[in-house]
Amino acid sequence: MYDIAIIGAGINGCSTAYEFLKENKSVLIFDKSGVASGGSGAAGAFISPKFSKAGDLKEIINDAFVYSMNYYEQNFSQAFTKAQLLHIAKDEKEDAILRVFKENTQLSLQKPKHEVFEKLTKEAKARESISLEAGLVDAQKMCQLMIEGAKFMHQEVESIVWEDDYWLINDSYGAKELVLATGAYKKLLQEPYIELRGVWGHRIDIKTDLQNPNSIHQFVSISPTLNGKVAIGATHNVHYHPQINKEAYDIKAGRRELLEKASRTLAIDDVEIVKDYTGLRSGSFDYMPLVGPLVLSKETLQCCEKKIRVKKPDYDSFLYYPHLSMINGSGGYGFVLAPYLARILKEHITGARKIPLTITPARFFARWAKKLS
Ligand SMILES: Cc1cc2nc3c(=O)[nH]c(=O)nc-3n(C[C@H](O)[C@H](O)[C@H](O)COP(=O)(O)OP(=O)(O)OC[C@H]3O[C@@H](n4cnc5c(N)ncnc54)[C@H](O)[C@@H]3O)c2cc1C
Repeated sequence: MYDIAIIGAGINGCSTAYEFLKENKSVLIFDKSGVASGGSGAAGAFISPKFSKAGDLKEIINDAFVYSMNYYEQNFSQAFTKAQLLHIAKDEKEDAILRVFKENTQLSLQKPKHEVFEKLTKEAKARESISLEAGLVDAQKMCQLMIEGAKFMHQEVESIVWEDDYWLINDSYGAKELVLATGAYKKLLQEPYIELRGVWGHRIDIKTDLQNPNSIHQFVSISPTLNGKVAIGATHNVHYHPQINKEAYDIKAGRRELLEKASRTLAIDDVEIVKDYTGLRSGSFDYMPLVGPLVLSKETLQCCEKKIRVKKPDYDSFLYYPHLSMINGSGGYGFVLAPYLARILKEHITGARKIPLTITPARFFARWAKKLS
């Protein structure tokens, strides 16, 4: 019997595993395709703030950015690289957003490195930009390091059953607590209010003569040169889903698109593509992450319909699955958010804190239930 089982070994599952391993708990973690094989394996895994106007999403990402920079450096410096980020606006609308951000941010901004700025195209130089200290993660190495000490099972979880006081997984493994960290892949728990959007992404690692000390984000994300390689990636394909589309993803067209978009920011010559990575990132319908316990929709509708139909329902009055939570929906900021969200989840599971209302999955149950009438 394990203290906790986690399904999904992406950055969300692995960050959660690490939180419980620190508490000396026994941790079992499953992944159907291997560690960091989904969205996490495809990510450029840049740690950056959100450059937008005010709002809940900007607040949580920017708090998580400060937290994660410190967390990765303190705990996993061998899989974390600090690098200046040059974020360049894509168009006039973004020029205006970056100007507002610069005026209001508490983060300390830097001057862009001269040698980087000089390499930009005329179009990129003309746009508004922001430079600050940021970083990037080696996704595969990071996830492996985080789960050292846990039992890893390379298998798909097809059944989870609550057996009075523990979860029985695939008819074989027992755990007192269960966390779903399955990203945008097939739903394991058939609850109608949990809906996640998968956006397909592609990253290429290239060999090139370019000596780039910065992360550069504009139409795509471009990494600094590390071990002679530069990574170029983006999640931009809302139409392709590996579990829905019949045809295979067109990898050559994806490569062309990434290189064409990168060339609008800076000239990259002598390109040799050495590896492709693809995967889905998962986002919620209000763009905020989904972290915390899961409402039993049928039972809650039966017992408490009147309590749901009020303007501001009390989420504490809903009925929840015993010892079951999720951590998901981090959109394009999974590596920024995961350590921060995993700590909130751990503190919730150990009884030390309530999940903030803006990220609890119960908010989607309340919306879904209201629409039924
Ligand atoms: C191209 C690309 C670039 C990105 N760039 C960045 C970036 O620069 N910075 C950033 O912060 N974020 C970035 N993201 C987003 C980030 O990758 C995601 O937010 C993050 O990976 C989500 O992590 P996750 O653990 O929730 O999901 P995933 O990494 O997708 O992990 C879910 C795992 O669950 C497993 N699984 C699902 N169902 C089952 C089952 N039934 N049994 C067993 N295993 C199961 C899957 O195999 C998968 O490995 C990018 C994403 C992509 C695709």
